[in-house]
Amino acid sequence: MTKSNMYADAKTWSPSKGCEFDCTYCVPSFQRQAKRQKHICMKCYRYTPHTHPERLLKVPNAKIVFACGNGDIAFAEPEYLFKIVEAIRVNSSHSHKEKTFYLQSKKPSCMQPILKLLPENVILITTLETNRDEGYNKVTKAPVPSERYNQFLELDYPRKVVTIEPAMDFDVDIFGEWITNIKPEYVWLGYNSKDSVQLPEPSPEKMKALAALLEENNIPVHCKTLRGIEL
Ligand code: SF4
Repeated sequence: MTKSNMYADAKTWSPSKGCEFDCTYCVPSFQRQAKRQKHICMKCYRYTPHTHPERLLKVPNAKIVFACGNGDIAFAEPEYLFKIVEAIRVNSSHSHKEKTFYLQSKKPSCMQPILKLLPENVILITTLETNRDEGYNKVTKAPVPSERYNQFLELDYPRKVVTIEPAMDFDVDIFGEWITNIKPEYVWLGYNSKDSVQLPEPSPEKMKALAALLEENNIPVHCKTLRGIEL
């Protein structure tokens, strides 16, 4: 297990922004940050899905680029998603693929049409907080965990990462099997870090058991907020 900062050496690039999945834990994080944009773009301020095509060619210089990290690309029109991919391809050829691009969605099926166009320096990410569907609609309007898992699993693409954060109570055996089946390069694991958000959470013992199971299956676990638990 490694302690890592997801955002070290990373910059967010936002040719599209906003999201309507309304995750409860997004309000005090991404959506609060978006409020700083009030004097620049009211759609950014409101977190309404929209595009900024003037940014397509302004890819930041950073080792890691979170493409459309302030929102979910599931809300981008398919034609615009192709433009984002083309911008990634052009930038990757100029930078000799020294950058790694992360593309993330809680509705992974939206990435199906672009799979064959992605250069090898693109990693696909989805969040899976739990394997449990029951009650999940109280937390977000995004596809329920089982649906999201199947969508991500079905993406025929060699480079994937799963974010288990903020972790919600899960069944170690089922959840561990899901993650193992996906074969991610690594996972992020952490609890909710916002005091204002209440979620049904796994016990420290479950977090440890899941981390151990993943490591046994050669899936590195990168730790985030763990409240002192030693995995
Ligand atoms: S899917 Fe991501 S961007 Fe959308 S509401 Fe949830 S946390 Fe925020």
